[in-house]
Amino acid sequence: MTALFDDAQSRLTDVMKHIELSDDVLERLQHPKLALTVSIPVRMDDGSLRVFTGYRVQFDDTRGPTKGGIRYHPAVNLDEVTSLSFWMTIKCAVVGLPFGGAKGGIAVNPKELSRLELERLSRGYIRAIADVIGPKRDIPAPDVYTNATIMGWMANEYDQIMREQLPGVITGKPVHLGGSLGREAATGQGALYVLQQWAARNQLDPGQTTIAVQGFGNAGYHFARLASQAGFRIVALSDSQGGIHSTAGLDPELIMQHKRTRRELKAMLYCDSSVCEEASYEALSNADLLELDVDVLVLAALENQITEQNAPQIHARQLLEIANGPVDSRADTILSERGIPVLPDVLVNAGGVTVSYFEWVQNRAGFYWDEDEINERLKIIMDREAQCLFELADDKQISLRTAAYLHGIERISGAMTEHGTREYFQKQPGTRQHA
Ligand code: NAD
Repeated sequence: MTALFDDAQSRLTDVMKHIELSDDVLERLQHPKLALTVSIPVRMDDGSLRVFTGYRVQFDDTRGPTKGGIRYHPAVNLDEVTSLSFWMTIKCAVVGLPFGGAKGGIAVNPKELSRLELERLSRGYIRAIADVIGPKRDIPAPDVYTNATIMGWMANEYDQIMREQLPGVITGKPVHLGGSLGREAATGQGALYVLQQWAARNQLDPGQTTIAVQGFGNAGYHFARLASQAGFRIVALSDSQGGIHSTAGLDPELIMQHKRTRRELKAMLYCDSSVCEEASYEALSNADLLELDVDVLVLAALENQITEQNAPQIHARQLLEIANGPVDSRADTILSERGIPVLPDVLVNAGGVTVSYFEWVQNRAGFYWDEDEINERLKIIMDREAQCLFELADDKQISLRTAAYLHGIERISGAMTEHGTREYFQKQPGTRQHA
């Protein structure tokens, strides 16, 4: 039942070998602060009533209000949401944002709902969790199968409940409703900044670097588009329906145009028209894409995509995790033994939450920045933290993931320790005993 969370927690065991963590800190990092399960009744278009199950988990708020996306997917469950909230806690600390971690989700297949049903469900979810969120408390954002429009409905519902305009309650909103410029592409942009730092450090020439991307959604598309513009060669793309491959290289923008004209909500990458003929593609399954012989395999779909089953068959020279938790801990060990570095999710996909942080700052200040300023600020943070992490991994001869956890947990531990730990209270000399 708690498989994913147990796996997520096993990373802490690795970190423990390299850091002196107070028992207090370790104990607190093993339990979410709040885990809420809600029932959301929705009147469907045919007049029937359906009750959906939703979750909001706030893992830790020592470093600031909690922050984390909302996922709509049939497989959403408390174990997954708790794991994602734990990763958010680490991620916000890795890039030094003044936030703790949270996550939310609804077990639903949004492709089966009409837009009106989707709006009722999204507003119903906010009514159900309104008591625990807020601009100074817990700030949701988009995740898998949620988008800016849904965030706009949610922010509006919250304003109606609170009887005031509080745009800082949710990030990833449409730009016309207080969203930040650059937010939509931020996760892909941040991932590219990390890849560029890695490439410079390891003498990878973009023009000679082939990339396969699993998950051609928001994060994967913007990454592929920007990486292609930066000179990298995208040779394969996939979504939940299947993938395409072309050694000559694919144009992500052209493929996305093709995908959008076919059907808006349902993801389709089957290429049977001129677009794919032009690219002289070959169709391939998701499993095959993961095993392609490429320089960089980018994982931008869901968790647990690389496991002990397929890790021995990975031919990529390095992995870039844009999705959260796409490589499980056993696969991590196998890849590490095979000398395949994994650039970890808690750094690579942190561009999204970083620009969400910028959106929250802009909403609270009521003063908005232009896109260049946002990307410059994003680059400063991603470059700085990536460099720091790569150096830590080299100095201590540890994996990039362990270095990332070490880096983040040191900040979390610093904050928790300031409140006092067992060691502090036991060692305090000359403390007056109060009756
Ligand atoms: P999205 O819903 O826009 O895209 C997900 C994509 O993955 C879709 O194209 C879907 O068809 C595809 N997909 C699903 N199952 C697949 C499979 N088995 N094989 C190949 N493709 C598959 O979601 P997103 O926002 O792009 O998020 C993707 C991942 O990135 C998630 O793990 C999410 O938590 C993570 N992430 C996203 C952001 C963000 O800002 N969007 C930020 C941080 C992390």
